[in-house]
Amino acid sequence: MNPPLTDSTPGAAAVPTPVVAMGWMHTARFLTTAPQLHFLPQLDMPEIAFVGRSNAGKSTCINTLTQQKQLAFASKKPGRTQHINLFALGKQNATDAVLTDLPGYGYAAVPKQDKIRWQRVMANYLVTRENLTGIVLLCDPRLGLTELDEILLDVIRPRVEAGLKFLVLLTKSDKLTRAEAAKVLSIVRLQAGGGEVKLFSALKKQGVEEVAQLLWQWAHPAGPVAKPTQVTIGAGDTPVAATASDTAP
Ligand code: GDP
Repeated sequence: MNPPLTDSTPGAAAVPTPVVAMGWMHTARFLTTAPQLHFLPQLDMPEIAFVGRSNAGKSTCINTLTQQKQLAFASKKPGRTQHINLFALGKQNATDAVLTDLPGYGYAAVPKQDKIRWQRVMANYLVTRENLTGIVLLCDPRLGLTELDEILLDVIRPRVEAGLKFLVLLTKSDKLTRAEAAKVLSIVRLQAGGGEVKLFSALKKQGVEEVAQLLWQWAHPAGPVAKPTQVTIGAGDTPVAATASDTAP
């Protein structure tokens, strides 16, 4: 008999086994990249966005979850650092979810004009991307939630209140003592406005399987199973509607 794919209690949302969740994450592959929201293809499958200050550990987290050394570092290639990068998840030709890597913010050396432009693109994405199902905010716990993270929380609050999933990952948790970890967890839980908060360490592999299981659940909510879709990126894609503020240079 095959092992069960999920551990489920009647009435509760199915929880995939760690093997299933990690296997699903491992299917991640580059889908497309875009400098602005209206260049992204319109998709009708769950999309999970990773956001955070630069250096928060976002690329390392995505690479660890997907068990691929270079996947998110593609987002750091010259010319792509300010881009929205999409990765497809699910079996080949049966994409069932998308991971979005939004560029890190708050990097001091970026010219002010670029910072403002980028904040606008990101806010627009977070507010208007219709198939957005969940947001993972990466945060270096030694800095805590910074002013820019707070702005982001304000931007997404109405959608989180309306049911958008939200997780704060306190990265590099291997650098914290137990007492420091407990303290920062309780502070950020108060600030996260209903979102979940978890410790994560790529180095010690803390939280990796739990996060993979949670993201799988976000993408496969209980109820009718969405039919997997074949995604084609090309001339035939209908761009999502851009708002005026997204078209700034
Ligand atoms: P990004 O700018 O948010 O994509 O951040 P990176 O993934 O490039 O990570 C920034 C720095 O933090 C790098 O030097 C990483 O090696 C380090 N880092 C990331 N994750 C961990 C972790 O779990 N533990 C430790 N100790 N360092 C980490």
